[in-house]
Amino acid sequence: MTRSELLIGGSWQAAAGTSSETRQVTSPYDGRVVGEVAAAGPDDVERAIRAAEAGAARWRRTPAHERSDVLLRAAALADERAERIGEILSAENGKTLAEAQGEARRSGDIIRLAAFEGTQLYGQTLPLDANRGTGQEKLGFTLRQPVGIVAAITPFNYPALLVNHKVAPALAAGNAVILKPAGTTPLTALALAECFVDAGLPEGVLSVLTGAGAQLGDAIVADPRVRKISFTGSTGVGEHIASIAGVKKLSLELGSSAPVVVLPDADLELAADAVAAGGYINAGQVCISVQRVVAHEAVAADFAEALTARVARLRTGDPSSPDTTVGTLITEKEARRVEQSIRRAVDDGARLALGGERDGAMVQPAVLTGVDPDSAIAQEELFGPAVAISTAPDAAAALRTANNSAYGLAAGVFTRDVDAAVRAAREIDAGVVHVNWTPLWRADLMPYGGLKASGIGKEGPRAAVEEMTESKTVILHGRPWS
Ligand code: NAD
Repeated sequence: MTRSELLIGGSWQAAAGTSSETRQVTSPYDGRVVGEVAAAGPDDVERAIRAAEAGAARWRRTPAHERSDVLLRAAALADERAERIGEILSAENGKTLAEAQGEARRSGDIIRLAAFEGTQLYGQTLPLDANRGTGQEKLGFTLRQPVGIVAAITPFNYPALLVNHKVAPALAAGNAVILKPAGTTPLTALALAECFVDAGLPEGVLSVLTGAGAQLGDAIVADPRVRKISFTGSTGVGEHIASIAGVKKLSLELGSSAPVVVLPDADLELAADAVAAGGYINAGQVCISVQRVVAHEAVAADFAEALTARVARLRTGDPSSPDTTVGTLITEKEARRVEQSIRRAVDDGARLALGGERDGAMVQPAVLTGVDPDSAIAQEELFGPAVAISTAPDAAAALRTANNSAYGLAAGVFTRDVDAAVRAAREIDAGVVHVNWTPLWRADLMPYGGLKASGIGKEGPRAAVEEMTESKTVILHGRPWS
């Protein structure tokens, strides 16, 4: 797929000035060129913002039911095109075709959920007469209104899912959107943007700026005309964005080192099955991948054995082959970083039960046991296919170890004891806690977002529409009654 023009305000236009060059998009598996996109520059940021100002002014006055109709048409197009979008996604990202098509197939549902939420912008009535000094003659209520221009900045690891989770609710709520997808995975974003444009989105409302992240990102983020940044990516870039954004709304979905606690009464077969999926899907490049397991010492050895047996059956290879269960990392550079982190874990005293070897951008799925919870492999986000197992002497210590992290995105606990499950749900510092499953599970409608260094704000269509709108208080001052 080649798109040598930029999508600015819903129409395809040549990039401005000296930046009218293109960037190649390559497969991380074999390096073949899978497409080309335009490289936007600072002039294009300005054009996109100007188009968005005009587009936002029109779109916010479009009745919610009409906005919803456009989104429903976009959802139908995303359904029709899901197979093709999945192929593009797998080719540019390196995840298996099955995973990519599963991700692409969720697009229509996310857009439909957002379309509905865009019709639910309820406010509240203020009981002003409960406040001493105000009278019966006044009426107060709140309105929810779109913020104006939303910048959506997305990472490489879920190039369809995370674009949909930002663009669809922002549009449904009546905003104009400037999307800046990850440099490695722009083609999926463009294919999805085409669904919205072909659905009849009016002029000005959607722009996609493909090009260099830091340069474009800074110009978009710092601009006061952009009223909301919805960012998903690394904690480092998220901190940078927070430091330059100025006074505007911010949602930051950031990094993680997600834990799973395995208590002595857990169903170990279930836990091993779940972690063998949750630690390795998308080659571990998921913000909610299982990175750490904290197992009670009574069951840690049995759990590690059960997990290792399952992980040994995973197969790396050509992402387009049905036999491949674990695709590549996004680049060979990333694969080298993960390989080194696994080696360092061994230097820090862990035992490598399995895997860790690298071939190009592929890393063999790894299991590490005897991991020191303070060591780098537990503390730093790995974003690769390895699970680090530590032990704890009792349930309280296991929860403390789970919380021994700067991050707090999502967690899991395996136990058959309701009391232990309730305690874990209350005490684990994470935005989402799963009982008898791993953190790697997300229903698109649920509120989703991290605590601590994992971010601020929530996604999921209802939460996102809330965060992409502002509440305005209106008071009608009647004359005093006689
Ligand atoms: P990244 O932070 O490198 O890049 C994310 C996006 O930010 C890209 O579009 C990039 O071009 C852009 N960017 C880079 N510099 C910028 C700047 N100065 N200003 C504005 N934008 C800039 O992340 P990545 O490597 O693409 O993705 C992996 C990271 O994303 C991991 O840390 C992962 O945990 C995180 N992630 C979090 C969630 C979540 O829901 N919390 C979901 C997926 C991924």
